[in-house]
Amino acid sequence: MMKGNFPITAFQSQQTPFYYYDLDLLQRTLEEIKAQAPEPHFHVHYAMKACVNPAVLKTICEAGLGADCVSGGEIEAALAAGIPPERIVYAGVGKADWEIKLGLHNDIYCFNAESEAELEVINALAAEMGKTARIALRVNPNVDAHTHHYITTGLDENKFGIDLSQVGQVAVLVKRLPNLKLVGLHFHIGSQITDMVPFQNLCVRINEIQEQLADKGIRVSDINVGGGLGINYEHPNHCPIADFEGYFKVFRKHLQLREGQILHFELGRSVVAPCGTLITKVLYVKKGRYKQFVIVDAGMTDLIRPALYQAFHRIENLTSKAPEEIYDVVGPICESTDVFVKDYPMSGTRRGDLLAIRSAGAYGETMASRYNLRKLPASYTSDDL
Ligand SMILES: *Cc1c(COP(=O)(O)O)cnc(C)c1O
Repeated sequence: MMKGNFPITAFQSQQTPFYYYDLDLLQRTLEEIKAQAPEPHFHVHYAMKACVNPAVLKTICEAGLGADCVSGGEIEAALAAGIPPERIVYAGVGKADWEIKLGLHNDIYCFNAESEAELEVINALAAEMGKTARIALRVNPNVDAHTHHYITTGLDENKFGIDLSQVGQVAVLVKRLPNLKLVGLHFHIGSQITDMVPFQNLCVRINEIQEQLADKGIRVSDINVGGGLGINYEHPNHCPIADFEGYFKVFRKHLQLREGQILHFELGRSVVAPCGTLITKVLYVKKGRYKQFVIVDAGMTDLIRPALYQAFHRIENLTSKAPEEIYDVVGPICESTDVFVKDYPMSGTRRGDLLAIRSAGAYGETMASRYNLRKLPASYTSDDL
């Protein structure tokens, strides 16, 4: 079984568990994105919630990406990282007043608004501050992303966005509210999408909505198609960079942009997932009646995706060349869902071995918690080790 290329000797002198980010892979990923989605007609915003590790964020910021934020904290982090406010967009079904004021105060590019109630509040706060808020309506396009139902966001049953049938009337409301300026339409259908058909369906839906709005005399300058491009969790060594070429091609081919419209993307997982690895040490190998358990020092508090979304991460034993055996790899947390993988073939494993839990750069470190009063995981980059 092919394994990733890691500085194992340097790893062995560090306290585990820790995240390790390959900045060279991140750099190559960013170059591919910029090559496939050139400005000025394409604007790519990095979805901050995927990973806010300072070194990772700095690399992304230097590549010139904007930021997609879903909280006031993320707006602050994006600004602190040096991302200009005119490249920041802000989405979320529950924006608090202080978060809206923060966005207005810093003149962020746009609020992706999700309800009439929210629009009224943004308008009132903007009026108090003597500002005009740029608005994109987050529309729920009712397009099935064909991904895990826990990470589907663009169906009628989901809490996100404005219902398709109400877009026209809400757009008219925005036009009426004096401290709002309607600039765009925003969509986000889900995450870890590797089949391009849902994105194609999204394009068709956006074309229809643009027609309907045009009939009402409404035209916007920006179309934001959100994020969601998936990566190959099964084969991180063969496919370290997501299929950006295929992804951007879908929008070029199927989306009918109007004269001068700018197309925005909000990519998170596909930018950072492959470059991150969670390194953990084997504490015990326990042979049960039916199973062998590899008990490691990382748990769901360090990487919750398997427990939260039934997600798969490839795991490699970096320090063993012994023949493969079948294991359940589990963490030390007092929860039955604290399992990284079940019935999994891995090189013969012993106490002290180092394991690499791959493709953990997105929704890994950002979701770490201190449950069981554990320490938050440390992190290093390929520049450090
Ligand atoms: C999470 C999120 C994204 C990023 O999704 P990925 O699947 O990580 O690309 C983009 N837009 C919005 C509104 C989000 O909530």
